[in-house]
Amino acid sequence: MRFAEERSVIDIPSFLLALGLGNVAFAVLMAGYTHGAAPSPGLRLWMWARFGMGLCQLLGWVRVYLAVPALNGIEGAGWILTVALEIAAYCIFFGLERWRRVLLPVCALALAIVLAAGSAGAPVGYLTALVAGVVALFAAGMAWILLRPSRRASLLQRIIGANDALFAVSVAWWAASSLAGDAPLGKQAQETAYLAGYLLMIVNGFGFLLLCKQKDDAEMARMATTDCLTGLPNRHAFLERAEGARQAALRQRQPLALAMMDIDHFKQINDRFGHASGDEALTVFARTARATLRSHEMVGRLGGEEFAMVLPNTNLEGAVQAAERLRLAVRDSTVITSGTPYTMTVSIGVVVLDPNEELSAALARADHALYRAKSGGRDRVEVGQPQARRA
Ligand code: GH3
Ligand code: MG
Ligand code: MG
Repeated sequence: MRFAEERSVIDIPSFLLALGLGNVAFAVLMAGYTHGAAPSPGLRLWMWARFGMGLCQLLGWVRVYLAVPALNGIEGAGWILTVALEIAAYCIFFGLERWRRVLLPVCALALAIVLAAGSAGAPVGYLTALVAGVVALFAAGMAWILLRPSRRASLLQRIIGANDALFAVSVAWWAASSLAGDAPLGKQAQETAYLAGYLLMIVNGFGFLLLCKQKDDAEMARMATTDCLTGLPNRHAFLERAEGARQAALRQRQPLALAMMDIDHFKQINDRFGHASGDEALTVFARTARATLRSHEMVGRLGGEEFAMVLPNTNLEGAVQAAERLRLAVRDSTVITSGTPYTMTVSIGVVVLDPNEELSAALARADHALYRAKSGGRDRVEVGQPQARRA
């Protein structure tokens, strides 16, 4: 490998300058993004990590031209601090607990050793090995956080984690070759570490932002489809899923049952005990419905005190049984309002979809059956009439 020994793959000072400017630019961009906003947890710390990393790289570039020994220790300490900030940002982002207990002492110890070694005038190779070793350790920690086998990592997480692992290995190689004092090998290792640092800037820089976006998107989707009071699918989500179930039932030639439910005299709960008690009654109803249904069955809140459920692979007899089960469970669930136990009841209209019947038509039939349950005295289950006979 004479070629590799004699020629540099990269021009290290220029590379350091480009990396430093790149990381600082990243940090400035993120400062603009997070200004006046409520960014994802860890993003501000991440921004400071990028800024610190950029400064360390710029310091490394200055150090090439200014042979001031004190700068070695300062740059080394800066590297340890910024990589620690980066790992802390991941810990906060992923909601890891007790990370401070591990990271802070390790970071303080590493800083103390590097600063002591720097001020004692330790040889540059030894100092480099020390700092690179700590940075490799922290980068391996980041890779572990992203790729933890106990959690199902997304593809994005795995890409960032693999990049962190690559960075950790290349920096560890640099540390080992610096310690061994093998100059040509050390140069190769240093270049590899800088190239991995470039990848780190790009992959982790964009990667963390994408992770934040992925998390925000998931949260937005959850908010858009979930009723915030009961945690059930809201009207839009319920109708969408019910339509999916209708199409699947059609394809599989299986029956599909649908039920509309309305809590009886709900207004009374509000009027007698207050709105908060009404809200509690709604959450009790939702909890009861969820507990009564099987895993493939779905209940949603259509609005106010009106709910609906979809029961795949269920004929009319099974649907009536399920509705009765729910009706009795609601009677048994006690709502405690201002210390007074209150028993609520529910009226239910049940239908089985006719072949090729539209969802809206089936819902209308179930609603009609519900209306009959109400006018028949409430706290009962009524079956919807077949499509043809209604007209
Ligand atoms: P019925 O037995 O005929 O269904 O009578 P009802 O009192 O249950 O029905 P009505 O439509 O007269 O009243 C429904 C009430 O539900 C009126 C509305 O203020 C209340 N409501 C709607 N949404 C909410 C909510 O999110 N929380 C609370 N606490 N009340 C709600
Ligand atoms: Mg009602
Ligand atoms: Mg109603």
